[in-house]
Amino acid sequence: MDIVRTIDELRVRVKDWRKLGNSVGLVPTMGGLHDGHLSLVTASNARADKTIATLFVNPSQFAPHEDFATYPRDEIGDLRKFEDAGANLIFAPSVAEIYPDGHSTKIEVQGISQVLEGEFRPHFFGGVATVVAKLLLQALPDVAVFGDKDYQQLCVIKSMVRDLNIPVEIVGAPTIRETDGLAMSSRNKYLSASERKSAATLYQILTKIAENVRSGHPPANQRQWAESELTKAGFGAVDYVAVRDAETLEPVSDASRPARVLAAAWLGSTRLIDNVAV
Ligand code: AMP
Repeated sequence: MDIVRTIDELRVRVKDWRKLGNSVGLVPTMGGLHDGHLSLVTASNARADKTIATLFVNPSQFAPHEDFATYPRDEIGDLRKFEDAGANLIFAPSVAEIYPDGHSTKIEVQGISQVLEGEFRPHFFGGVATVVAKLLLQALPDVAVFGDKDYQQLCVIKSMVRDLNIPVEIVGAPTIRETDGLAMSSRNKYLSASERKSAATLYQILTKIAENVRSGHPPANQRQWAESELTKAGFGAVDYVAVRDAETLEPVSDASRPARVLAAAWLGSTRLIDNVAV
């Protein structure tokens, strides 16, 4: 497995693969790898002959008060994990390679970026859409794989790719969880031992809401119950718990169309997000 750090080197490698008739998959990550990330490499390998995984902590998706400086970084460990998972090439550019002086273009996906996460992290999806568009245009893969764990992000990327006619198939891969149900996340490292014990409650509550809505309970009545359960389990602020249309993320009044339950809540100083299908 090779590692390249410039867009030019990346393009040479992809061109060589193309000459040999290989299809290409892309797995963008910020590192701090866990089995959730590695499952995306497996999903990409199932669809493409060669998989490029990217390691880039994208500054433009962090607000000034967020954890860009302290985000878990372990390049050597991550390279080993990617190699074991079967990635063929790692693209690990510097910030200056992706955002050289004078970089002034930003992609905003209206509507779907502005609800839920967008209300609480208004800078976030602009940064994600911009870097993902750049990575897609740099690598020009046939397929790119993203986790259902960040469900709204997946919806935003699908919208962007459709709107900008980027010729790539966007694939969502299932959320990988710890044995107690907590969704794996690089930020779980921030949880104290007692917070870690409480953390799986979020998934249990989302699962219960999905069951309730499936059996006919009105989605609008679920939030209050969820908040009190999360508070009992030791959570602090609940940013949102919402049942939304699985495609548009607009509010739904029943389960007549595919829906998704999504939530974000604070446990100490760590913000957890998760979602499940109804
Ligand atoms: P990140 O490094 O957090 O930006 O995540 C990189 C990719 O891994 C994104 O597509 C995430 O949705 C995905 N991902 C993160 N956690 C999980 C998980 N527990 N299961 C599956 N995919 C995940």
